This record gives sequence, C-alpha cells and structure tokens, in this order.
Amino acid sequence: MHKSKLLMTPGPTNVPYEVLQASATPIIHHRTNEFSEQFKKLNNNLKYVYGTSENVLTFPSSGSGMMEASIVNLFSKDDKVIVASIGVFGDRFGKIAEIFGLKVVKIEYEWGHAANTKDINNAIADNPDAKAVIVTYNETSTGISNDIEEIANCVKNKEMLFIVDAVSALGGLPLKMDAWGVDVVITASQKALMTPPGIAHVALSKKAQAFLETANLPKFYWDFKAAIKGVEKEKPDNPYTPAISLILAEKAALDMIEEEGIENIWDRHKKLAACVREGIKALGLCLFAYEEKYSSDVITAIKAPDGVDIQFEKVRAIMNQKFNIMIAGGQQKLKGKIIRIGHMGFVDIMDIINTISALEMALIETGYKEFKVGSGVTAVLNTYMSNN
Ligand code: PMP
Repeated sequence: MHKSKLLMTPGPTNVPYEVLQASATPIIHHRTNEFSEQFKKLNNNLKYVYGTSENVLTFPSSGSGMMEASIVNLFSKDDKVIVASIGVFGDRFGKIAEIFGLKVVKIEYEWGHAANTKDINNAIADNPDAKAVIVTYNETSTGISNDIEEIANCVKNKEMLFIVDAVSALGGLPLKMDAWGVDVVITASQKALMTPPGIAHVALSKKAQAFLETANLPKFYWDFKAAIKGVEKEKPDNPYTPAISLILAEKAALDMIEEEGIENIWDRHKKLAACVREGIKALGLCLFAYEEKYSSDVITAIKAPDGVDIQFEKVRAIMNQKFNIMIAGGQQKLKGKIIRIGHMGFVDIMDIINTISALEMALIETGYKEFKVGSGVTAVLNTYMSNN
C-alpha cells in the first residue's frame, strides 16, 4: 500500500490530483491549434498571477536556468549589477552574474536578516552606472521574505532594472509586478504553483524588453526575443519543443488558482504561516528570522533556543520515515542547525496540524521534551480559529 508523502518542503511541493491528471493526458503535438489554445490560456493565467499585462515566457527549466537566462538576455560583459543577498539563492544569483563576466556589487546580509532600502539606496547612489538591482523575494534557505514593494521604489525612475527572484514566492506571497514597478520576475513550476518541477517563467517590463536589444552575451536556446516572438503570435507557440505535459499540468493548477482567487490565496498563506509560527513557539522553538515580521508566509525556518541542542536531522528522519511527512533541513552553513517547514501552494490547515503533531512526536523521540504534549497543535488550532 502506498500513501503519498506529505511534502512540507519548499519545493517540490504537493501537487493536486487534478494537476497530476492533466499531466497524464495523451500528448498533443505542439504545432497544433489545440496546443496554441492551451498555451495562450496558460499565458493569460500567468499574467493574472504575476499581476502584469506583459507576456510571461515559459521555458523547460528549473528556476536556476531562468536566473541564468535572465543574465544572458539582459546584460553584456562588464555590466555592473547590485545584488542584495540574504542567503543561498541571493548568493547564487550573484555567482551566475559573475560567471558571465558581470561586475557584481554585493550587499551581503547576515542570514536571518532581510534586505533594507537604506542599503539599497546607498548602493544605487554609490553605483549610478549599475544596470540592475537583483533581489530574492523569498529567501528559501533562511525563511525570510524581503519587502519587494518597498525596494521597488528605490529603483523606480532610475535607468536600472529591478530583477526579482520569485521562485519560491509567486503564487504564495503578494506580488503585483506592474503596479509595484518590478521589471523582471522569475519563477518556477514546483513551488507555490502546485505543479511538478520542470518549467520556469520570466516576465519582462517594457524597460526590461529594451535591454534585450543591447545585451550581447551569447545565447541561442535561451533567447528571450525568440520566445517573445512565439507568445506574441495569434496562435502562440514556442521556438523549440515545449514541455507539453507540464504546460497542461500548470494550466490546470493556474485554473485552480484563478478559481480560488489570488488574493484569497495570499490570505490563506498568511493565516497558515501564523499557525506554524505560533505552533513552533508553543514548543519552545525559535524562529530563525532575526525579526518575526520578516519570517516568510510560505516557509518557516526554525532554530533551537539558545543553549539547547536539538538533533534536527534526526527529527526530520523520524518525521519522514515514521509519519510520512517531509520537511527540509538547513542548507550550507545551516545544515543541522535549522529545520524548514514549507507551507506553499497546495496546503491547508490539516496539513499544518499533521506536521506540527508529527514534529512534537519526533522531538520527544529525540530527547527534546521542553513542552507539554499537544501544546504546539493547540496553538495551531487556536491561531487558526481566531483568524478564520
Ligand atoms: N531561487 C529560490 C528563491 C529558490 O527557492 C530556488 C529553489 N529552491 C531557486 C532559486 C532555484 O530553483 P531551482 O531549484 O528550481 O533551480
């Protein structure tokens, strides 16, 4: 007998049955009206989730591929970019830019902190020749989300682009690309978009589209101009064979998102995140976030109280093997030091209750007993009932 694992990880995440079913429909050829129609609908659905009137490009790729593609399409060697990094994925964006010969001005934060507009304004003032400011919306490695709306104001009316890695944010955290003035938004299918891994997206403001004309880094497969030409057609298509099954799957997921309403979805994530935070605090555990207001609404990073040793890797293994619930551990220097509970996409209160109860049992089994059994779950229930 096989019961699906509950993936409380920051991607890949749980995929609704309807979406899996859509991915299993017989393959349709990609040079047909039938495919064009589905692809057009996907693009319209994506515009809704992005909050943009621009086309959203779709590539067979993970999120990192789209980060790299954005660099090669928008810049030339020796261009300068400002990267505000608050963890693994901010570092990754900076590294990609460096590999392609860009000059990276890095604003580096201690992990657990969010970027702030003062530092970004200073970096812009010190580097008026920079071509872009690059920021991670939700830093998945630390469970911190940056205030993208506020940071967008620093870049507005400047000659530079504002590029946002929204791989683990889009579809979970509020984002209004056009209204906030974000120039480039990157995301991937496998997180809050409730779709299996394998396709990624980017949308470009008019200002960003102008950068495509002068950027001269080499590209062929990743050429955004070719992809734009495809989506702009009356019967949209792709320059190369698209990931047809994943496009059909994501279209089904985005239909569900549209039906629930994106603002309701943001609200659901906010309320469920509050339940997780109160649940873990009731167990005597601490948020990794330096300030609670920056602890993300799509993932919660959790550390032990000062002076207490918790065997987090063992806790994760017990939750996975005994209770069939997978949560994430720490990455790089945080390995073994934190756990991360993903609550993005296809997630509801019962998933949170199951996760916190499994966490309680796993903590007790590993010798951490600084709480009354059921106190985490009780806090989850109380928070949920007072917010709904
Ligand atoms: N950026 C962020 C914020 C992410 O969370 C991830 C994936 N965890 C990536 C980029 C990279 O995406 P992928 O693993 O799909 O390449």
